[in-house]
Amino acid sequence: MGLKAYMNDIVEAVVTTAKGMRITARYGVDPREEVTLQYPEERWEIPEGYRGFLHNDIKTCTACTMCVKTCPVDCISLESVRGADKRMVLASYDINIGRCMYCGLCVEVCPPKSLKHTSGYEMASVTRGELILHFIAEDAAEIKARVARQVAEAAAKAEAQAAAKAAEVPSSGTAEVAKAAEAAKAGAQAGPKAAEVPPSGTAEAAGAQASAKTAEVPLSGTKAPDVSSESAKAPVVEPKAAKEGENKE
Ligand code: SF4
Ligand code: SF4
Repeated sequence: MGLKAYMNDIVEAVVTTAKGMRITARYGVDPREEVTLQYPEERWEIPEGYRGFLHNDIKTCTACTMCVKTCPVDCISLESVRGADKRMVLASYDINIGRCMYCGLCVEVCPPKSLKHTSGYEMASVTRGELILHFIAEDAAEIKARVARQVAEAAAKAEAQAAAKAAEVPSSGTAEVAKAAEAAKAGAQAGPKAAEVPPSGTAEAAGAQASAKTAEVPLSGTKAPDVSSESAKAPVVEPKAAKEGENKE
């Protein structure tokens, strides 16, 4: 290396350092060029559509397992049991965010949209187990046992209702039998009366009524003798010829 090249290197080093110090000085004194945030008190604004940590609203989740089947890296696991109302009940729902690559496929396929990306990105931990998010705090075995009890209670209730219904059927038949017995009793009481008086509507009854009316009221077209009139009270006049014949004898 000659002297000229050596001097050029020294000049270049001084110029480069001056350029760097000029930029540093500008960011140091100009507030518009401030880029440092006082993390964690300050944070960058998260852009829309950012795929951060996953969150599942387990009240909306239907345990359809679509997310589990879709995940390319198998970082979602869930357990579910069928409840008394025939719906699936989640016993556990876990996501390993240490394995997740935030592709968003599970969110896309979730039918009720209960699974969503959040804007969360901070999860410092010292063990991998801490990176598994448990969305159900209660123990899965306890949930399964509780659901099994509910299913058994529902089955017992349904059986009791069926037995009660089966018991109601003969009782209704008994009521009908009782009604029939009452009707028969009423018929037996009405029997003697029916023997005394011909039943209305029969020809004998009609004849009896007609004869009774005839005895009381004259037939239409004839006139009843007026026994209270003067002609009825007047003395009977015998014919003259008959009287004369009697005198001759
Ligand atoms: S974002 Fe992708 S990798 Fe992460 S859980 Fe969902 S499907 Fe799996
Ligand atoms: S796809 Fe959605 S509804 Fe189905 S199990 Fe996953 S989070 Fe639940």
